[in-house]
Amino acid sequence: MPVYEFECPEGTVSEKLVKMGTQEIRCPECGKKAKKILSQCTFELKGSGWYADGYAAKK
Ligand SMILES: [Zn+2]
Repeated sequence: MPVYEFECPEGTVSEKLVKMGTQEIRCPECGKKAKKILSQCTFELKGSGWYADGYAAKK
């Protein structure tokens, strides 16, 4: 499983080992939802629709 970085609304960044496709975790510091940061590793996105779909829905 890959390690991802997550950032909560408070600005706390935590690294966590999660399943592929996990979009958010609960922040260990404040307990709020922390969203995945995609800056770290640009892995292959071909063939997966969750990335584009998730961002399109937000805007
Ligand atoms: Zn937090």
